[in-house]
Amino acid sequence: MTTIAFIGLGNMGLPMSKNLLGAGFTVRGFDLAEIAREHFTEAGGKAFTSVAEAVQGADAIITMLPNGGIVKTVYEGADGVFANAKNGALMIDSSTIDVETARAVASAAEAKGFSMVDAPVSGGVGGAAAGTLAFMVGGSDEAFARAKPVLEPMAGKIVHCGPSGNGQAAKACNNMLLAISMIGVSEAFNLGRSLGLEDQVFFDVAANASGQCWSLTSYCPVPGPVPASPANNDYKPGFATALMLKDLRLAMQAAGSTGANTPMGKKAAEIYTAMDEAGHGGVDFSGVIKHLTNSL
Ligand code: NAD
Repeated sequence: MTTIAFIGLGNMGLPMSKNLLGAGFTVRGFDLAEIAREHFTEAGGKAFTSVAEAVQGADAIITMLPNGGIVKTVYEGADGVFANAKNGALMIDSSTIDVETARAVASAAEAKGFSMVDAPVSGGVGGAAAGTLAFMVGGSDEAFARAKPVLEPMAGKIVHCGPSGNGQAAKACNNMLLAISMIGVSEAFNLGRSLGLEDQVFFDVAANASGQCWSLTSYCPVPGPVPASPANNDYKPGFATALMLKDLRLAMQAAGSTGANTPMGKKAAEIYTAMDEAGHGGVDFSGVIKHLTNSL
């Protein structure tokens, strides 16, 4: 398999496509934005001005798009992927979208004789550039086996999470947990400060005790203990609050559809919504520590 069509050459898609080019794949690209197509061409890709042209003859089609509505249109529209891809092509949607749409588009693909996986990522723009993204893949064993060598040049880790939609499910659950744990760590620092506990002292205790978690030891929301965390850089993202909120809303949509009880996820979504509405959507999500004390 050598020819890949890449649709959606934005902050994530462009560096991902560069890693595929670097690995020797022929990559045909399309983005609605001319500037994105120009950057792709400069990187050695062949840009086209429609989905229909870009997917012609491609063995695999990767999409990296803003939301489920756009993903559905790009695949199912009259001039879309399904209408123009070659027989049996493999389809990989790496956008972060709702589980329901991911499952619906994958089953429409299968009905037309294509293989499809959902393969959302974590690792952000840095991981996309470095080729170290974590891919959470949903789809059949056969589709996963075909997708793996295509994902490898972009990946640090690739996990098969189960059937279609399970990649999106894993991503939504993980990011809901991350949102909750970041708020928990922030509350603990704020309470400690109010009691006269120094940040570094609390960090040294909790990092080696039962409060230990990634939000504390890898992405600490106070400056000092973890030098690379955005707290040391005025809470510049990193992972912007608006992007966290998008993922939390997808998690809440999924919880609504299954009836799962997620009270902490709901509260986290309320807190990040308030932070976003206060004009701080561009602040790293760990800035919630300041939002909680009205000091952003
Ligand atoms: P982005 O806005 O930078 O890129 C999206 C691109 O899609 C844009 O260039 C846009 O022009 C293009 N596009 C929109 N509609 C299109 C259409 N109909 N046809 C072709 N191109 C179209 O967004 P991004 O940061 O690259 O994110 C892409 C996806 O990855 C999102 O689903 C996001 O949630 C997910 N994601 C982002 C990050 C991150 O840190 N940025 C991390 C993990 C996952």
